[in-house]
Amino acid sequence: MYGSESKGKKTKIIQVIGMEFPIRCFTCGRPIAQDYHEYEKMLKEGKTQKEALDALGVKRYCCRRMFISYVDLTELVSKYKRT
Ligand SMILES: [Zn+2]
Repeated sequence: MYGSESKGKKTKIIQVIGMEFPIRCFTCGRPIAQDYHEYEKMLKEGKTQKEALDALGVKRYCCRRMFISYVDLTELVSKYKRT
């Protein structure tokens, strides 16, 4: 996901803006970040969002919306310098 040479710099920028996938569900506090990698993998394999979330056992709709509504802006944001 990140280039190896500028990893530290990008990570710093992302932390400031808060564009990483959230660690916990904003509403119920269930940890969700550990499932994101698997979720992304399933989507690449051609599963639907519903199938992926059901397979991961993400049942509550507050947690499901965290996955469905997340847009990865890491690449876009990393083009710009913080001044
Ligand atoms: Zn939740």
